[in-house]
Amino acid sequence: MSHLYVMVSSRTVPWRKPDVPTPLEPVMAFSAMHADAGRVDATLPDLGCGLTWDQVHKVRPRVVLRCPECGHGVHARVSSRGMRHFAHDPGRPPDCAWLNESLEHHQLKLALANAARSAGWQAELEVTGPNASWRADVLATSPDQARSIAWEAQLSPISEDDIRYRTARYEADGIEVCWVTPNSVTWLGSVPAIRVAEQAAEAVIIDGAAGFQFTRGRWQTPDRLTLTEFVQGVQDGSVVVHDVLSRYRQIKVDSTRYAWRHRLWTMAASVEAEGRHELMRQRQDAWRQRQQEAEAAQQAAERRQREDDKRRHEAEHAAEQARRQQEQAQRDEDWWRGFHARLEQDRLRQEAVEQQRRSAAEAAEHERQRLDQAEADAASRWIEKVSETRTHELHNKIIEYVWRNEMGKTATIDTDGPKKEHAYGTAIQLGTRLYGVVRPSPTSMQRLPGQLRVFVLNAREAQLLLETGKVMTEQMVHFDFPDDEQLSLL
Ligand SMILES: [Zn+2]
Repeated sequence: MSHLYVMVSSRTVPWRKPDVPTPLEPVMAFSAMHADAGRVDATLPDLGCGLTWDQVHKVRPRVVLRCPECGHGVHARVSSRGMRHFAHDPGRPPDCAWLNESLEHHQLKLALANAARSAGWQAELEVTGPNASWRADVLATSPDQARSIAWEAQLSPISEDDIRYRTARYEADGIEVCWVTPNSVTWLGSVPAIRVAEQAAEAVIIDGAAGFQFTRGRWQTPDRLTLTEFVQGVQDGSVVVHDVLSRYRQIKVDSTRYAWRHRLWTMAASVEAEGRHELMRQRQDAWRQRQQEAEAAQQAAERRQREDDKRRHEAEHAAEQARRQQEQAQRDEDWWRGFHARLEQDRLRQEAVEQQRRSAAEAAEHERQRLDQAEADAASRWIEKVSETRTHELHNKIIEYVWRNEMGKTATIDTDGPKKEHAYGTAIQLGTRLYGVVRPSPTSMQRLPGQLRVFVLNAREAQLLLETGKVMTEQMVHFDFPDDEQLSLL
């Protein structure tokens, strides 16, 4: 029965919180020092030294056993729950460390020792190191003695500094260590540690060990990993302490809780998966970095392009402005030039008109002078046909004619002779009245003023003047003088 008990104790007597701490349950230790056999372990079938439980339990005379911690006498006993252990004899020193450990602590130590042994390792409880530099709750040693692991049941509060210090002391002696606690502690994840809880009468890991889920890229506590499985894994090397990569330190502890863990227990495959994931993330980061750099370069290029465009546009605008101003100036100049040209044209046109008018006037004047001259020439020839003598005779005949027809009045002959205004004839005055004209020139008859008498030498001259249509027969007075001999001279 006792053998069976020990063999199955990791399952039948797991570490658990006592329902009610009872004064009947004395504080326990699992080790004692035997004067001849040496260290006695209550959790092993042969007590670790070739003895049986019956050889130390309730034998007479009493076997001398001492507390390995304080040296006080102890005796073997079985607790009300059937747990073999050693209890101090009366009068124990109050400062013995073991006496201050709880039942809970002892039960957890026992569970750890049993798990270590189920993996084929030796496990000693309450082992003190050389120079008392450490004291392991359970010190497990591999069959080839190559590895030692201290399994520490840590229930009482301990500072992070202290637990690091104690971890370092184990490492200094080449001993691996794993801290095991049922409590929520701050140092989980900073030293190799796990948190356990009882589920379905078994101790299982609820924190401190995790597997890497590649698809989700995170660490997660396994659904159900028993303390026994875990200890076996650690001891056969498949479960190792791993320093979590910084990217993955927020791990999923359970379905509702996340926590920061710098260090945890896991398997090689998970370490590899984390590394692979990290590489992937680094590649993604690098890709993203390149992408961002490319985008930044693109944006910079676009910005430069926009600035270039803006500068070019401004330059074009300025050039356009200058061109327009130049065009406007040109238009203004053209307008003024056109304006002056029109003024000049108008002036020239006016000048031309004036010139034309003057030319026409001059031409008309010349023509008039030419006609006057021609008229005067014709008149001269007409006058020169008659001699002075004949002219004198004619004047006498006219005076006689007036005297007879105007009741004795005497006409006077214009002494100035022929005048242009009298159609190149000589005026006959009767008092102040112009009475008639003597021999007007046939080519100047239009100058003859009013209805005057017109005196000529003879009928031929009368006929000549009548033919001009400027005088009528009633006006004509002619005598019977012959044509002057001078006529034949022409
Ligand atoms: Zn003691």
